[in-house]
Amino acid sequence: MTDTTAPFGFTEDDLHAADIVGVTIVWADNNGIPRARTVPLDQWPSATAKGVGITPLFAVFDTHDAITFSHDGLPDASGDIRLVPVPDRTVPLAGQPALAWAPGRQVGADGSPWPYDQRGVLERQVDAADAAGLQIRAGYEIEFFLDRSGDGPDAVPGHDGPAYSARALITVDAFVVALLRDLRANRVPVGQLHAEYGTAQIELSIAPTDPVTAADLQLLARQTIHATAARHGFRASFSPLVLPGDAGNGWHLHTSVWRDGSNLLSGDGPHGLSDDGAAYLAGLLRDLPAIVAVTAPSEVSFQRLRPGYFSSAYGYWGVENREAALRLVPGTEFTGRTQANVELKPSDASANPYLALAAVTAAGIGGIADGLSLPDPIAANVGTWSEEQRRDAGVRALPGSTAEAVGELRANPRVSAALGPDLLGAFTAVRGADAAWAADRDAADIITAHRWRY
Ligand code: GLU
Ligand code: MG
Repeated sequence: MTDTTAPFGFTEDDLHAADIVGVTIVWADNNGIPRARTVPLDQWPSATAKGVGITPLFAVFDTHDAITFSHDGLPDASGDIRLVPVPDRTVPLAGQPALAWAPGRQVGADGSPWPYDQRGVLERQVDAADAAGLQIRAGYEIEFFLDRSGDGPDAVPGHDGPAYSARALITVDAFVVALLRDLRANRVPVGQLHAEYGTAQIELSIAPTDPVTAADLQLLARQTIHATAARHGFRASFSPLVLPGDAGNGWHLHTSVWRDGSNLLSGDGPHGLSDDGAAYLAGLLRDLPAIVAVTAPSEVSFQRLRPGYFSSAYGYWGVENREAALRLVPGTEFTGRTQANVELKPSDASANPYLALAAVTAAGIGGIADGLSLPDPIAANVGTWSEEQRRDAGVRALPGSTAEAVGELRANPRVSAALGPDLLGAFTAVRGADAAWAADRDAADIITAHRWRY
């Protein structure tokens, strides 16, 4: 099920050889916030065998660490579940010597599957795809704001640009070098890194792998970036929008769909797609509002999704169109036909990466199962069109509020089934709690409050 070329592979002996003192077991909650427990190395055999106890209520933590009891399945503080590290995914952390990192699985107190375990939700979707003879490859592209304020709520740009310039990176040279070194040592395969368009923004891309590995790597990359930044006197903000009116931090999700070793996004049909590749993309387009409810779910996500910022604001697809929510990146003879992939723009760090990939997988595989056909691509920024032009072209705005997004998610049979009824209930309860928190706050306060959460 998982990638045989997965970039992990440290053993318990490696942990001892590296003088590791503790292992931090990380999972991402329903707000995309990585939560963790650290066990001393002498507890590692026990932790891998039977996990460590955590409260079931992490499923109903909101973005601000409040707990909502509005989900019927988790109505009180009783009970305990186990957080079990995935031993073959353990990595001694270059940026935090003496600590190692491992992704965690959540299981019931008796070891049985726990329906709120986000990693398990994705594993089930990967298995469903496999049963249909299909494999997804996925890789994240990560944007972040580099801050040099030290602490406090405000953001102070860590570099002064210019965007995409070598000069911007020279001013943060030591950090960039350390980051590339730490990511390599932590076995996060990086495609490239650059100074992005936004204020003090940096972007790096992670090479594609199987979906579970892609989500694990996304969590490991964030841990690494935070640690390296801290060592160099910086802070990283992964929040979807760090400064009002600025470019946001997209965590674009690139996927492709494969059968028998062939990339179905590369074929002889229109736009260089195979029929099944077109159906995959059509599946993502059909379910886009529900996908976005999972991939850009926070109160600050809605502020990021504006036309003209390459973040996407409307539900349409285009060939290499950076304004479109779904950007087909065709493989060429030069880059390699197998490189074809589709980029989901409305995706950010407030999404749980396992749930994000589960939603995308369910939608894409559903498109193939239903033999969907793809409408024509749009090359324009439809944000410059009139309402009427958009209506005529069948283009809708992406969900602009929690109420809308949750409505789309609940109404969508494929994405809600992928989450399962229990997790869907907890996830939507948490969204409701976040929305209630935001109700009497203005846009700038919401941005400030999210700035250092991820
Ligand atoms: N920063 C943009 C966003 O919010 C994306 C820019 C780009 O990489 O095209 O998603
Ligand atoms: Mg970018």
